[in-house]
Amino acid sequence: MSAEQPRAVDRPSGGTSSLVAEKIAPLLHVNGLSAAYGNVTALWDVSFSVAEGQVVALLGSNGAGKTTTLRTLSGLLESTSGTVRFAGQDITHARSDQIVDLGIIHVPEGRQLWPRMSVQENLELGAYAARAKAQRAATLERVYSLFPRLKERRTQAAGTLSGGERQMCALGRGLMGLPRLLMLDEPSLGLAPRLVGEMFETLRVLRQQGLTVLLVEQNVHQALELADAAFVLETGRIVLSGPSAELLADERVRNAYLGVGVG
Ligand code: ATP
Repeated sequence: MSAEQPRAVDRPSGGTSSLVAEKIAPLLHVNGLSAAYGNVTALWDVSFSVAEGQVVALLGSNGAGKTTTLRTLSGLLESTSGTVRFAGQDITHARSDQIVDLGIIHVPEGRQLWPRMSVQENLELGAYAARAKAQRAATLERVYSLFPRLKERRTQAAGTLSGGERQMCALGRGLMGLPRLLMLDEPSLGLAPRLVGEMFETLRVLRQQGLTVLLVEQNVHQALELADAAFVLETGRIVLSGPSAELLADERVRNAYLGVGVG
């Protein structure tokens, strides 16, 4: 019996597809993706995958195209070529609300909370898709147990929160959408070092809970220590990719992004 024909044992009866060798498809599969602002191309032929339960980091310096990648995946920017598949579906031309409904939740850079609304109202807005709305109360409790500080401040206007609390609130709002894939754009941006550490600790907890994350970060060292795999963009093209441990040891990464071995 070849490896292509698994034994038909230990399977419930009646399942025809169960006799086919299973190949675990990635949750997100991006192939040859390009995108442009007007006639200026910002992403060129970008291909990568994220498997269920993985944390994948998207690295690169300012203007490399990281945010553009997330915006294209979340349907805010139309791609000019390439395909995006999510959970087996072609979502290349899906609208942003359909993408949210499928469970791709984008937490944008700069938090973008509603400053006059309370913390809780901001969080609840994260659960606007039907799938998430049905479980809103239970998810809110989970977010509050992850971020007790947000629970303490739940009636306070989001605009009065500190930078670290705002970032927690933005992440919490993303979690309220019950993400199957959470895309985080620079969650540690502008935070004091202690708070950066706390943010990465939180991401570690979420990772242990099995959350799949695509993480844009300028904090390359911490991102690589957290992530399973990473890729590096330069002027809209992927120039390096691989398992995080390999990239941490890669001389080009160390020189360009980790400030090691220079001079
Ligand atoms: P940063 O960390 O600075 O946000 P980034 O890697 O996320 O960097 P992008 O914001 O994706 O980079 O930008 C990629 C390129 O697209 C840059 O050259 C940028 O100037 C350009 N760009 C980004 N947003 C727009 C826009 N709204 N209109 C025109 N060009 C844009």
